[in-house]
Amino acid sequence: MTHEPINKYYEVAVSAPIGRPLTYLSPADCQQQLMPGMRVLVPLGGRKITGYILSTVDSVPSGQKIKEIYEVLGSRPLFRAEQVRFFKWMAKYYHYPIGEVIKTALPAGLTKKSGRRVLLTETGRKHCQLNERELISSPWLSILLNKGEISPYITGKLWPTKDRRLLESWEEKGWVAISNELIGGSAKTKTEICYALIEQIDSTENLKVSEQKTIEVLKNISTTTHRRFVPRREIVREYPGGAKGLKSLAQKDLVIFEEQQVYRDPFGECFLESDIPEKLTGEQNKALETIIPAINKGVYSSFLLHGVTGSGKTEVYLQAAAVALEQNKSVLVLVPEIALTTQLEAHFLGRFGSRVALLHSGLTSGQRFDQWDRVVEGKADVVIGARSAVFAPLAEPGLIIVDEEHDSSYKQDDGFCYNGRDLAVLRASQSEAVVILGSATPSVTSYYHASMGKYHLLNLKKRIEDRPLPKVEIVNMQSIKTVSGRLPVFSPVLIKNLRENLANGEQSLVFLNRRGFANFMICRDCGQIVQCKHCQISLTLHKAGGKLLCHYCGFTVPGKNMCSKCQSASMASVGMGTERLEQEMSEIFPGARIARLDRDTCLKRNDYIKVLRAVHDGEIDILLGTQMITKGHHFPNVTLVGIVLADTGLGLPDFRAGERTFQLISQVTGRGGRGEKPGRVIVQTLQPEHHSIMMAQSHDYRGMYAREMELRKSLGYPPFSRIINIKIEGKEERNVRNTASSLEKLARKFQKKSLPEILGPAPAPLMRLRDRYRWQILLKGEKLELLHGFLSNLEGDIASLSKAGKVKITVDVDPEYMM
Ligand code: ADP
Ligand code: ZN
Ligand code: ZN
Repeated sequence: MTHEPINKYYEVAVSAPIGRPLTYLSPADCQQQLMPGMRVLVPLGGRKITGYILSTVDSVPSGQKIKEIYEVLGSRPLFRAEQVRFFKWMAKYYHYPIGEVIKTALPAGLTKKSGRRVLLTETGRKHCQLNERELISSPWLSILLNKGEISPYITGKLWPTKDRRLLESWEEKGWVAISNELIGGSAKTKTEICYALIEQIDSTENLKVSEQKTIEVLKNISTTTHRRFVPRREIVREYPGGAKGLKSLAQKDLVIFEEQQVYRDPFGECFLESDIPEKLTGEQNKALETIIPAINKGVYSSFLLHGVTGSGKTEVYLQAAAVALEQNKSVLVLVPEIALTTQLEAHFLGRFGSRVALLHSGLTSGQRFDQWDRVVEGKADVVIGARSAVFAPLAEPGLIIVDEEHDSSYKQDDGFCYNGRDLAVLRASQSEAVVILGSATPSVTSYYHASMGKYHLLNLKKRIEDRPLPKVEIVNMQSIKTVSGRLPVFSPVLIKNLRENLANGEQSLVFLNRRGFANFMICRDCGQIVQCKHCQISLTLHKAGGKLLCHYCGFTVPGKNMCSKCQSASMASVGMGTERLEQEMSEIFPGARIARLDRDTCLKRNDYIKVLRAVHDGEIDILLGTQMITKGHHFPNVTLVGIVLADTGLGLPDFRAGERTFQLISQVTGRGGRGEKPGRVIVQTLQPEHHSIMMAQSHDYRGMYAREMELRKSLGYPPFSRIINIKIEGKEERNVRNTASSLEKLARKFQKKSLPEILGPAPAPLMRLRDRYRWQILLKGEKLELLHGFLSNLEGDIASLSKAGKVKITVDVDPEYMM
């Protein structure tokens, strides 16, 4: 039976710096209708590059020569047709090529190369046997004959050679069949031997100890992860005797096993929460009474859920999600990046189990691919993930939640500079869904939108069970006299309170926004500070590793260093980080059980969960750490929170510094007093008069908001204006500077009545990072449309200047950090 080839035109977004999609013709002999979301290989300027089908095109302008798609990669779409509009909007708004937008959106494992598997057909086999002479000339022919196929790995080596033509001619004759598949190992689906208990085990008394233990482990994993079949690997990891145990249990027919396609389940290590509160608070009820009808209506609406820490926002999310799921809609939940795992995740898993797919940076690319695949397939209709989860291929989202919406990790600040929170709102509006932005300390911008009626404001002003917010005490560190005259790490007040807490058997959190031992090393003789060779940044001392480390590029030098300028060996360490806190703390409280959470102690998700669990189970007295300890945990027995230095962020040249400091202090503060006993907070600072610190002391979000709005109005910063940052980076300082100034001159030509405002060019505050010099030009204006139009005029020049100066130019719309 022969099919007519389908001749169709397709709109294809190519993975290249080209603004708009291109049109291609279906591949020769294509007998399949290609669908939006499929990945293809297309010819472009003599190269073959990856592209993504966006739609079919009915007609093309006459006289235009349309090239054929070279081949189709994979058999299934990677995203949904409904998402095309979303991608197009993003490309336009962020001034980023659409193909690259899509590439960023898809999980990394997919961008692996596709390969070809060659299968020998029956006719082919006969031919080969008749022509054995040919087998001598090519070793791969004997492989093909022996195994009946050659793997993508070998085919990949043959493809650039003349053998390719031979194979293709064989395919035409029907001697071999060539199929496409993804190679690269990690992004393939995977099978494992999995075990399950039989339905009814009468008694385990007569079993061997290893068998009993194996059953217990299998049962445990199975209940906590909602799976009947558990991979052998996981059982053996938990209990090494499980290998033997499973074997003998199988012989006794007490377990069954089969080879299953396993999703590399990232939930295996999570502690689940599934308690549903008996009664909602009045405020929770009120919020849900507004949200639920909106979900049922199925039209776009947006809410800003401003709920103080411990007010039960998660429960609102969960119940709203349940409603959306009842409507056969899907649910998307975004969480901040740093939260390798959160209580929120545990709650969603506890309540919705296997319907949940998890997409965050803690996953391997294989796990990511599996999770993505479950969403494409419709097997998971709840997605929880960091910013890039906003691209998840969910069908018909009915509810989109952005937890801790103020968090700056929603912004990606290189390459495709998108903001996951803003895109969540957009996606909701395009899908007629409800979006909830939740925070105890909303971003000034979001609160402004709420005050202008763009978002519907919902308040949770009280903590669950009317628990009071913790009492905050400010300690002015400048007033503390020490013998050395140096700033002490802990004030007497903090030490006294920590001691009392230890005596009472209550837990404490101690926070400092800096890891390492000391901020920097300075030469006692000439004052030279040890800097990174590649960045304009001082190196941080990490005592445990005996090294000085660059927190930007990871460059290290041995800790016992001589001054590079005067060769003096007399170097002093200045400032403090969490490593030093830990050391001093264990000297002051020798008996205390102290744990530290930061990126040095905790690279893996499992380490992180272990520490959290230990705190949860009361095995830790004092937990100290960086932001890692501030997000999304609920520790009922924590009654004291210490902030070692609240002003680390205040000196940064960034108009959001005040807002961020307030948010940080409030978030850390919010970790305390969440149980029956009230909490106390001690904030050590050098700037006790700063409004961010004073307002955080009185839990006065509105006060901070009013103050910040005043400042921003007087300086014309967002939300009173919009900003686009054009970042110019390159290896040669001169090229970067020259390109920046040429770009500025061009830009001034397009200005009308000196609009938009052009600031710069100027070196970025971090002028050199990773061996690259960095300059920037800011465009500022009241109307974003004006900025967009202005930038569109410049786009061609940006491309050619970037090429000519060998520099990278990145357009950052609504920048979050301008460092
Ligand atoms: P938030 O996210 O607003 O800081 P959480 O959602 O973490 O607060 O809620 C704090 C704690 O209160 C959680 O342990 C949660 O399970 C519990 N909780 C939430 N709602 C209720 C309720 N209506 N009754 C009792 N406990 C509740
Ligand atoms: Zn020196
Ligand atoms: Zn560096």
